[in-house]
Amino acid sequence: MVRYLKNGFFPKHCPICEELLDEGCDWLIACDLCSAHWPDLRGPSGLVFMKERCFVEYAQTGFRLRTEKRLNQQVNEFKYGGNRFLARRWGQWLGTHHSLPNEYQPNRCVLVPVPLHWKKRVIRGYNQAHWIAKGISSVWKIPVHSSLLRRRHYGKSLTNLDRKSRNELSRELYESKDANGRFQVFLVDDVMTTGSTLSACGDAVQRAGHEWIGIITLALA
Ligand SMILES: [Zn+2]
Repeated sequence: MVRYLKNGFFPKHCPICEELLDEGCDWLIACDLCSAHWPDLRGPSGLVFMKERCFVEYAQTGFRLRTEKRLNQQVNEFKYGGNRFLARRWGQWLGTHHSLPNEYQPNRCVLVPVPLHWKKRVIRGYNQAHWIAKGISSVWKIPVHSSLLRRRHYGKSLTNLDRKSRNELSRELYESKDANGRFQVFLVDDVMTTGSTLSACGDAVQRAGHEWIGIITLALA
């Protein structure tokens, strides 16, 4: 199965039970029966966990990481295994299970992936958050704006810092290259850990005058 995914083909079988998947469901990762056992966070509990870490109007995630080995493998596969098509497929899965809230204007909404520093992006070959955003975009029909944010420093991390140094670093870690302030922004990332990265990106979006309205991540660590 992993072999198929690496080649970028959509598998026709559930990777867990090998049952045949429905035709035309490109976004399906596994059959409903198998995915029913995942630590699902698509409901209200995901929203609560996310808002505890990062305060924003709209917050959605897919599943809890760590407890399910196969889901960890999926994330590793697109994060370190070079499989950007798998990231897009998970994005389609997310976009299919969550919807664009009615109150937002589709003509102003954009999906903005959390940026990698350019050096890291060159080493990995792509930004996985960008491909997740592309998957959501194919369902929600709103554009991905990957150049809205830029990461300024390489290698500096917001984790393991006390609150004061984290606040200081996060103010200078990300910046918006588009200061026209006309977008309603949904930030997209693969995994939410402390929420400090998403908050730092949200601050940068707001400093440039855009409206920061939501966060969407595939998983919650
Ligand atoms: Zn299955």
